[in-house]
Amino acid sequence: MIKVLPVISRKLSHICSLKPFKETKWLMPNGNPIGVYVYNCIADQKVPVILNDPTIATWYSCGPTVYDSAHIGHACCYVKLDILQRIMKSFFNIKLVTAMGITDIDDKIIKKAKETNTDFRIVAKNFEHEFWLDLSSLNIEKPMIITRVSEYMPTIQSFVKNLIDSEMAYIASDGSVYFDTSKFPSYGKLQNMQDNGEPTSNEKRNKMDFALWKGFKPGEPFWETSWGKGRPGWHIECSAMVSKVFGSQIDFHAGGIDLQFPHHENEEAQSCAFHNTTQWANYWIHVGHLSLKDVKMSKSLQNTLSIPDFLKIYTSDIFRMACLMSNYRYPMEYTDEIMKTAESVLKKFKFFLNDVLLYVNKSDTGHGDYDKKLLNELQKVEINNLEALKNDFDTSSCINSLLNLVAVTNKIIKADTKDHYPVPVILIAQYITNILSNFGLKLQDNTENDLSNLLIDTLVDFRHIVRNNALQRKDKELLTACDMVRDKMKTMKVQINDSNKTASWVFTK
Ligand SMILES: [Zn+2]
Repeated sequence: MIKVLPVISRKLSHICSLKPFKETKWLMPNGNPIGVYVYNCIADQKVPVILNDPTIATWYSCGPTVYDSAHIGHACCYVKLDILQRIMKSFFNIKLVTAMGITDIDDKIIKKAKETNTDFRIVAKNFEHEFWLDLSSLNIEKPMIITRVSEYMPTIQSFVKNLIDSEMAYIASDGSVYFDTSKFPSYGKLQNMQDNGEPTSNEKRNKMDFALWKGFKPGEPFWETSWGKGRPGWHIECSAMVSKVFGSQIDFHAGGIDLQFPHHENEEAQSCAFHNTTQWANYWIHVGHLSLKDVKMSKSLQNTLSIPDFLKIYTSDIFRMACLMSNYRYPMEYTDEIMKTAESVLKKFKFFLNDVLLYVNKSDTGHGDYDKKLLNELQKVEINNLEALKNDFDTSSCINSLLNLVAVTNKIIKADTKDHYPVPVILIAQYITNILSNFGLKLQDNTENDLSNLLIDTLVDFRHIVRNNALQRKDKELLTACDMVRDKMKTMKVQINDSNKTASWVFTK
């Protein structure tokens, strides 16, 4: 039996000076229960998912600050969120509307722009482009709506203005705007802690007040507002963008566990204040960290592995299987042993599916027959797996029960007997294939498959015709567009070689 990854139970620890939050503030939404339970940090337990319309849900994930390349710590978070979203859609039949925010204005981006003598907008654009490529290489579905801070500036400004006007926020002497946490009694509900200590800066009225807007600093990009120039704080961005897209309430709001406090706490506080409501996000989903020998993978600790480097060693399916075999909420360790375990589980399924094909096409057998025991086994696994997924997305139980189903079926198909049961065996193989592909596994080794080659051929041929035409007409604008396509393809590891008569292309490493 293959070992399933251990679930590491670790409660969030916090500074002991914080006081426990007395009033639990999770409110049961009105609407239709869908029979699914998810962990909610405010209630500190699994709570029923209740949707306004039982078939529709909104989901916002906090995206990256695009100042550097993503690493497999980020990959772990986004693969796990992708798995949960796929489960919602495929297993619970929810029409999920997904959105993700991209922070493309930030201290780190400005710093990187200065270091590399590049416009901050170019830095952000390049790293965002790389981020989507990384996600695609991991078979992560792109969000339907992408919100960028730079494109939502008027929305963010009017959100801040509204909070100033309602006196939930105040303007400090340096032109920054702070949210007044003393005016929001539920502040601290996400981590069930409140901290009423002394403010750490002269600009703040209360210790936990946070910047909605950062006053102008020389050499930094800025935007003009009615209260002075500056740029948005990080937390306000998501609240303003989500509110613009989804209105005054959202079903699911997700991100890494490090975002629970202060980012999501602040988002909830300012959004409730803005919408004059007591609960803005009904379900907070937080993904545990990927750690390396018990240490969180992070840029500052220089213990990261880039996604392209990871994919030189293992496949995206192996990484996804490792994620499926762990619990999304708890920390996951990255070790070669764990990746090899995930790889061998994947192989077990692939060998099984191949063995089934050989078995059902055998001709030296007795008459085909139903095997009630196998069919019952399949039915039991189907029911149990659905129940496991409804219980806070318990994917590791599903993988375990699929492995058991493979073992039971293997006993039948590898038995030295003339008994033959093609129907239940095919149904089992079909079920396993469906469930694994519903989890987002590709179940194929060849990533540079025929279809993508054909698509690249088509694009390169089309560009060649357009480029030749533009050369003849000396159309500079069109030639620049052709160059842009060539450069973008290069970042996707497709190198185009132009000549007068033909255009060829190769995959590069
Ligand atoms: Zn956010």
